[in-house]
Amino acid sequence: RGTSPREQKLAAVGGGGVGKSALTIRFVTSQFSEQGYNPTIEDSYRKQFVVDDEAVTLEILDTAGQAMADQWYTFGSGFLLVYSITDRPTFESLPHFHREILRVKDRDYVPCVVVSNKCDLGRLRAVGQMEGRELARSLSAPFIECSAVDGVNVDIAFRQLVKLVRKDQKRQ
Ligand code: GDP
Ligand code: MG
Repeated sequence: RGTSPREQKLAAVGGGGVGKSALTIRFVTSQFSEQGYNPTIEDSYRKQFVVDDEAVTLEILDTAGQAMADQWYTFGSGFLLVYSITDRPTFESLPHFHREILRVKDRDYVPCVVVSNKCDLGRLRAVGQMEGRELARSLSAPFIECSAVDGVNVDIAFRQLVKLVRKDQKRQ
């Protein structure tokens, strides 16, 4: 498949404003920017990460908009499918992103983690946790509630994805 098991290409996908950039940058730099992130900028980041005592070099693509979608999907070996608990349409659109990834890769399974972001905004919640879990189950993906602002579960989400990609690489 061209990439060595010591390298993984991951991508954060999902609707606008769900926190793809905030999560990616929180993971890569352990920081959150109050200034926010330019919603049109698409960038990739590298990070060394150790999972199960084994080092991996991650290249993480922070996607924006739909124009490059086919390239991202081809590029990625694992995906964070991100929605915001405060924005119901972003939840409802996740199956569409998932289907497109499978279609472009022409596979019936691709490693994904469903990320329910902005869990610090519980009082504005528009998507129940059980609904999120159900959706993840229907996509054969683990479910995790995160907050890029508070740094809750962000590393754990990436860690789970790295493990799934490793398993998947062994199967191929
Ligand atoms: P993207 O379009 O998916 O890349 O979303 P951004 O990362 O640019 O985030 C969109 C907005 O949501 C920004 O104002 C962020 O500060 C805010 N945001 C991102 N993640 C969180 C989070 O976990 N909690 C809260 N409260 N706000 C967040
Ligand atoms: Mg962004």
